[in-house]
Parts: sequence; structure tokens; C-alpha cells
Amino acid sequence: MRNWLQKFMRGRYGVDQLSNFMVTISVILILISMVTNYSILNTAGLVVLGLSYFRIFSRDINRRYTENQKFLKSYQPIKNKLFKFKNRAKSSKDYKYFKCPNCGQELRVPRKKGRVNIKCPKCETSFVRRT
Ligand SMILES: [Zn+2]
Repeated sequence: MRNWLQKFMRGRYGVDQLSNFMVTISVILILISMVTNYSILNTAGLVVLGLSYFRIFSRDINRRYTENQKFLKSYQPIKNKLFKFKNRAKSSKDYKYFKCPNCGQELRVPRKKGRVNIKCPKCETSFVRRT
């Protein structure tokens, strides 16, 4: 069985981050369709799943590699944003976030200090906010 699979996968692209992502998306779509009865989501999920298998078994390794690189490039900022969001949710009990009115720099200030004078470390603008 293992040998058969190894032989079958020889010269084929295999699993990468993009196909993992696509499988995850398709599972989510199918699960949502089961809960909500939107059969279009089920179809969409199966299409995405089919595409991900197409990529895994593809023999056009260069093209699949390029696709994955493109995916990683566009996915990285989203991942960073999610990470930031998660971090912020975790610390939102103790900190409040403000944007500098001058340069837009994000500033973290401890909560429950009343009105505080905040000085932007980037452009040195001062502004008063309630925390
Ligand atoms: Zn600033």
C-alpha cells in the first residue's frame, strides 16, 4: 500500500501550504453548508477540495510551486494581521490602543489611568485621551 502510494506520487507535486489551506477552506465550507442548508456552499467546498487534489497530484511542479509562492506572499500579511488581532484581544483587558493623529502610528496605553497625555514615540506629537 505504501509502495503503491510512493510510486503513484513519484513525479507529482504533493502537499504544500496552499493545498493545506484549500482543504481547510473546503472543510469549513462543507461544514457551514451542513449547518445552514446552503447547498451552494457544499458544492463550492467540493470544488475547492477537487482543485486542491488536482494540485497535489499535478505533474506540473514548477507551476504549482509558483502558485504556492504567490499564495504565501499574499497570505503572510493576513496571517500577521490575525496574529496582531489575537494578541490585541488577549491584552485588551489591560491596554487600550490609539492611533497617533499625526502619523498614524499605533500606540498602546495601560487602561484605567484616566485622562493621559500620550506622546507618540515616532513623531513626538502629544495628544490627550481617556484610557
Ligand atoms: Zn505620531
